[in-house]
Amino acid sequence: MEIKICHLYPDVLNLYGDRGNIICLERRLNWRGIGCSVTELPLGEKAALSDFDLFFIGGGQDFEQELLLADLASGKADDIRAAAADGKTFLCICGGYQLMGAYYQTAEGHKCDFLGAVDLYTVGARERMIGNLSFKLGEESGGYEVIGFENHSGRTFLGSGVSPLGTVTSGFGNNGADKTEGVRWNNVFGTYSHGPVLPKNPALCDEILRCALERRYGRAELTPLADGFEQDAHRAALEMINRKKQ
Ligand code: GLN
Repeated sequence: MEIKICHLYPDVLNLYGDRGNIICLERRLNWRGIGCSVTELPLGEKAALSDFDLFFIGGGQDFEQELLLADLASGKADDIRAAAADGKTFLCICGGYQLMGAYYQTAEGHKCDFLGAVDLYTVGARERMIGNLSFKLGEESGGYEVIGFENHSGRTFLGSGVSPLGTVTSGFGNNGADKTEGVRWNNVFGTYSHGPVLPKNPALCDEILRCALERRYGRAELTPLADGFEQDAHRAALEMINRKKQ
């Protein structure tokens, strides 16, 4: 068994060590004896996206997101939309998450017409949403609490046809108003959690791997790992966030 990962726009969308999520995905596959290949797809390069099982898109500054528009229009937008509709697994962080929606209008009023792969949109504002973030995953994703770090101008609003990835327990989340955080649609996982988010949230990493394995092989046997350090890191970060709430 193996999972083929495509890292979209690693040259442009690469804030806050988000590429650490790929290392976590790769290690938690390899530790279980499952193969993993990672292909980087920078701006301007093309590949047959149908060859891949799992896509990762990291975060980026407003001007970096605007750099993507011409490349998306070159055909990549259609291929990414098709992969998401075909049940391929995505992990999209912040700017990469916003990219999956209809548009992102920056605080300066620049409107980036994005993929429209998932029913959501984002509107930027001058006041940024920055700080530690925690949220409870929806039951379909395991119901665990996730901890991360957010820094975004964009306020994201979900359409009626999509579920949030979770419910905010600390921080802002999608928009600081409706207590939603991220999105879970088909096998697309979107979140504002930087960090990288996966190393200290092993349950979320395994849920994403489960989706990719089931989509490709029809089954996923994720044997338990000796990940005591990761679990301790998760607990410590959660305790820190909860102490700050008191
Ligand atoms: N530029 C987008 C925003 O400010 C995304 C930021 C990010 O990826 N951290 O909302």
